[in-house]
Amino acid sequence: MNLPVEIVEMLGQTLAKVVPVTIALALVFSVLAHFWACNPGRPWWRKRELVTDLCYWFLVPLFARVFRIGLLVFGAALLFGIRDADALIAFYDNGHGPLSRLPLWLQAVLFLVAADFMMYWLHRMFHGGGFWKYHAIHHSSEDVDWISAARFHPVNLLLGTIGVDVALLLAGISPEVMLWLGPLNIFHSAFVHANLNWALGPFKYVLATPVFHRWHHTCREEGGDTNFAGTFPLWDILFGTFRMPPDRLPARYGVDDQASFPGEIIGQLAYPFRKSGTLRPPEGRWWRKARTDFPSG
Ligand SMILES: [Zn+2]
Ligand SMILES: [Zn+2]
Repeated sequence: MNLPVEIVEMLGQTLAKVVPVTIALALVFSVLAHFWACNPGRPWWRKRELVTDLCYWFLVPLFARVFRIGLLVFGAALLFGIRDADALIAFYDNGHGPLSRLPLWLQAVLFLVAADFMMYWLHRMFHGGGFWKYHAIHHSSEDVDWISAARFHPVNLLLGTIGVDVALLLAGISPEVMLWLGPLNIFHSAFVHANLNWALGPFKYVLATPVFHRWHHTCREEGGDTNFAGTFPLWDILFGTFRMPPDRLPARYGVDDQASFPGEIIGQLAYPFRKSGTLRPPEGRWWRKARTDFPSG
């Protein structure tokens, strides 16, 4: 086995998947935003910091793949004492333990709900004191659009989607579930960032929409920390962080110190390590936030 060749092959495979998906999403959201823009003006290809977002868009899947595999190997060794390659493949092949014996559709539902619940609380944690500086990178987009969906610091990814996926695979859920949910997740996260005025009527309580997530991205003067759920607004309703003002649309996005925030990827990746304080001081502790007093619609 030649490790460098394998790594290059793996990167090639990942890119071969990312390119067609990117073209499809670009076409879909260009057409939709033409008719139903939430914030009319610049199309996504003329958004500020487009090059930065494109870098994240292609680097994040590579990073996620390498680190997911690493964490899966490490987790199986640490928690289950599995050390050789064949045993590792058998361990993850169809899941393991009681969860893997459930029908696949039920495993998929469990995965969706459990992952989204964990992501809700991790997201709130990232809006608190010491973690905000990593998550601020995601919030530094002033022109939020579908291509902004991948703008995440690696620390945010490890303690977010990657960590949650690995935890659920370690719990026994079959990886086959992720083959179905993976593409749905990519589409849905591009969708909630897309420049669309879609709130989906009564379904706004059921599924995270572009308007729902754009409110999350608004700057502090517009309300700031609400709508943390990735997929199901139920968590925000249950824990008092839901916000969908019925009479207007979100308009201004970004972080508090936008002027001094780095605009390119290298500066952003280094940012949390250079900065000790927080930009957006937490309003109380992140795990017991005051309920929102905004009209919820
Ligand atoms: Zn956030
Ligand atoms: Zn976002």
